[in-house]
Amino acid sequence: MNIAFIGLGNMGAPMAINLLKAGHDVTVFDLVEEAIQALEAEGASRAGSAEAAASGAEVVISMLPAGAHVQSLYLGRDGAPGLLDALDGRPLLIDSSTIAPDDARLVAAAAAERGFTYLDAPVSGGVGGAKAGTLTFIVGGDPAGFEQGRPLLEAMGKNIFHAGESGAGQVAKICNNMLLGILMSGTAEALALGVKNGMDPAVLSEIMKQSSGGNWALNVYNPWPGVMEGSAASRDYQGGFLTDLMAKDLGLAWELALGSKSSVPMGSQARNLFALHSAQGSGQLDFSSIQALYRQGEDK
Ligand code: NAD
Repeated sequence: MNIAFIGLGNMGAPMAINLLKAGHDVTVFDLVEEAIQALEAEGASRAGSAEAAASGAEVVISMLPAGAHVQSLYLGRDGAPGLLDALDGRPLLIDSSTIAPDDARLVAAAAAERGFTYLDAPVSGGVGGAKAGTLTFIVGGDPAGFEQGRPLLEAMGKNIFHAGESGAGQVAKICNNMLLGILMSGTAEALALGVKNGMDPAVLSEIMKQSSGGNWALNVYNPWPGVMEGSAASRDYQGGFLTDLMAKDLGLAWELALGSKSSVPMGSQARNLFALHSAQGSGQLDFSSIQALYRQGEDK
């Protein structure tokens, strides 16, 4: 298929590479020139704008930081038209960014008015899952559009869920990431407590992994440096899933809670921890660096 891929960051780049490996023609665009060059080296075609990438595409996939970026891509900004008004063809539109469900519904409704199908298809599984092609896709939107997009999602992921109508993919993803934020900070807290009481972090991790505290952070994303080869923690928390993006997702959970009069005390606590961590200068580090917040004053 002829695919346009917009947004080649930590997640988008490996996802686009998996589409190339599956034999698709992929035309890419990002605001960062180096990101485009890296994909060109893998066999992608370059475009000078999102509109140029999407021209003639059968499917457009976007993987951008936040809702504002997604709205500006599809709906336009400052008088400049977005993709919905710039495209001649009728490609299927799939946005895999994690954004507010209301933002996804807004774009989906604007797309439907102009005859496009837009799916919200956020992902779970991290950069490791994106590279391995084992992501979980959580999709909201038209069931026929979901079936049309499924083969492409299967080239990038292992578990493909249809969560419900437009926005449902984002609701499920935000619930998942709120739980992830709680689990990661809880894991970091338990490890710091153990180490301060004489435990080896690797030994403690293995014990908790095989016990009732076992969770995804311990299994594949250990936050303590050196415990897990290849983890973000073992490369100075570079790359991966940024603290600022986790803080954004916990903010989205908070907004969802406000709108539905839900109580999320654990999610609120996690949001405050990641916001504090970001304010201390760690926003551009992987979110597992929350471990450092618990290690302040360690040498004193
Ligand atoms: P990232 O910041 O690494 O990449 C975002 C990319 O989008 C950057 O390369 C940026 O230059 C590009 N971009 C921004 N605005 C653009 C525009 N208007 N046109 C073209 N390109 C533009 O972010 P990421 O880690 O790849 O995450 C992307 C989304 O996926 C976020 O919503 C995040 O919450 C979600 N997510 C991330 C992970 C993870 O582990 N990193 C996991 C699951 C979901």
